[in-house]
Amino acid sequence: MKRPSPEPNPHVAAMSAYVPGEQPQGGGWVKLNTNENPYPPSPAAIEALRTAAGDAGSLLRLYPSPDASPLREAAAKAHDFPAGRVVAGNGSDDLLNLLIRAYAGPGRPVGMLDPSYSLYPVLAAAQGAAVIKVPISDDLDFDDARVADCGAAVFFLTNPNAPLGVSFTSARIAALAGRFPGLLVVDEAYAAFSDDDCVSLARDLPNVVVTRTLSKGHALAGLRAGYALCPEEVASVLHRVRDSYNLDRVAQAAAAAALLDDAWLRRTVASVNGTRARMVAALTAIGWRCVPPHGNFILAEPASARRPASSETSAHAFEFLKSRRILVRRFPGHRLTERCLRVSVGTDAEADAFLAAAREWSAEG
Ligand code: PMP
Repeated sequence: MKRPSPEPNPHVAAMSAYVPGEQPQGGGWVKLNTNENPYPPSPAAIEALRTAAGDAGSLLRLYPSPDASPLREAAAKAHDFPAGRVVAGNGSDDLLNLLIRAYAGPGRPVGMLDPSYSLYPVLAAAQGAAVIKVPISDDLDFDDARVADCGAAVFFLTNPNAPLGVSFTSARIAALAGRFPGLLVVDEAYAAFSDDDCVSLARDLPNVVVTRTLSKGHALAGLRAGYALCPEEVASVLHRVRDSYNLDRVAQAAAAAALLDDAWLRRTVASVNGTRARMVAALTAIGWRCVPPHGNFILAEPASARRPASSETSAHAFEFLKSRRILVRRFPGHRLTERCLRVSVGTDAEADAFLAAAREWSAEG
């Protein structure tokens, strides 16, 4: 008889893994389900990636900079932020994990807005930390006092919010940070597509960390690079708990070059935001209500003459789009998202394919 494997820690035995969006491996899909950037990354990043590997990969023999100094210097320059207070991560998910590892645990709960990024509860569970969810209301706002007094050791404020797409002002978050006694992490994965950010708060306040990713604005999701802008003490804490070589040599170099190519970023964000505005106008015209977007995605509520907005209608529209090889994302587990589809902003051609299928669904609906 086969011997059973040993049990993991009880809190790990009780938890479930994060469920990422579908990553279809075959071609032929219009993939608008995981908020990737539809454009290729900065050519400077690709050049840097080749150089970092060395001739015939010769430099891959060597360990990379342990603290990702090329990336940290570039992020410091891009944000006019002290390099010594930038901590690099293997994607911003790595930093979210490190923040929870260092600041949360049994008796030190993790706070978050609900809905927001569904990875936070998974990371909290792995750490044996409880989760406190502060609800977002039907008018897509939240009560600052509930956050300030929630008792979390670390609170994740996703701004712009995902999956809703709404944004909260930096002035408001600054006031909130003053009232909240714990560590306030502003997860700015989508900030490149917004016109406000909290970088100055991380620069000036002792309890605000801003996390950023290269996955969205910089089109490098396949590389896995992110960073946190931290108060000095927080940076030193994160360095204690991170892996000693948490970013590979190639990722460090490409991310650094991408961060320094500001012209590329501005051009790409302008394209994405232009397509975003066109998609919102076209969806609104066929009766799909859209949350005003601040990221590179749109939360839209499909509805047609025969099918009023509902969870079933959104499932129906999802399947219809899928039958046309257009992949979007559903979040059926929450009252604010169950009637909706989250659609990443693609190229103009992808947007046109999606809009044509959405119109077809609405007409047949
Ligand atoms: N934060 C939010 C709110 C996200 O949506 C994502 C991407 N799914 C991340 C962080 C993680 O990004 P990365 O690719 O840098 O790990």
